[in-house]
Amino acid sequence: MSNGAAHVLAQLLTALDAGQINVIDLTTPLGAETTVIDLPPMFALSPGLTLTEISRYDERGPAWYWNILNLGEHTGTHFDAPVHWVTGKDLPNNTTDTIPPRKFIGPACVIDVTADVEQSADFLLTVERVQAWEQQHGRIPAGAWVLLRTGWSRRTSKEAFLNAGPDGAHSPGFDKACSEFLAKERDVLGVGVETVGTDAGQAGTFNPPFPNHNTMHGNGKFGITSLVNLELLPPTGALVIAAPLKIVDGSGSPLRVIALAPTA
Ligand code: MN
Repeated sequence: MSNGAAHVLAQLLTALDAGQINVIDLTTPLGAETTVIDLPPMFALSPGLTLTEISRYDERGPAWYWNILNLGEHTGTHFDAPVHWVTGKDLPNNTTDTIPPRKFIGPACVIDVTADVEQSADFLLTVERVQAWEQQHGRIPAGAWVLLRTGWSRRTSKEAFLNAGPDGAHSPGFDKACSEFLAKERDVLGVGVETVGTDAGQAGTFNPPFPNHNTMHGNGKFGITSLVNLELLPPTGALVIAAPLKIVDGSGSPLRVIALAPTA
């Protein structure tokens, strides 16, 4: 068996070298301008990134350049661990340092709702919509990432990305029953989105508030936000590698999300 596995890895490297498999970066650049979520004023805010130079080939360090990072765990393209939500606080292996690393690799199921989101920024993915996708592409396997392709990553300004109105943000997400279906009936790894959070912009007004966080993390599932380049992925057949920093007792972390996909 070990020979067979070694052969699979050798084949993978050969296919990468031959350009038969594309390495697709699903990550947004992480900089001082990276947009973070806005919360109502009664809640504590998470800071975006500040990069402070330690030295840059100068008297502070003549041959080396390095910086200090200051940022919230949930900045830019980032991972939500189950402990992030109160519903997941007592689960085993619920922090960034204790999640088994096997869970950092999984197949991608990409559900394209771009046209729906163009019609309504408040679009919610439903169970019916997932089942229609499964009719076309097959059942979502256990341990898959469900990636919600909305076209939202084309909104590059902070205003368009957060899309806040006087009544709060308007951005797409998941119907509560859909989150429950994906977590319990399909046993997914989690959901990935192009928006700033894995709940819809209006989800603070839902019952319960933020039902996708509530359900996913309460069932030990993960989230990834602010993904880009989902339009480069096939509906099925890509592999996602998404490993957060091993922050001790971390609730999440920025990460580099990589997909391996057969060359079209
Ligand atoms: Mn988060």
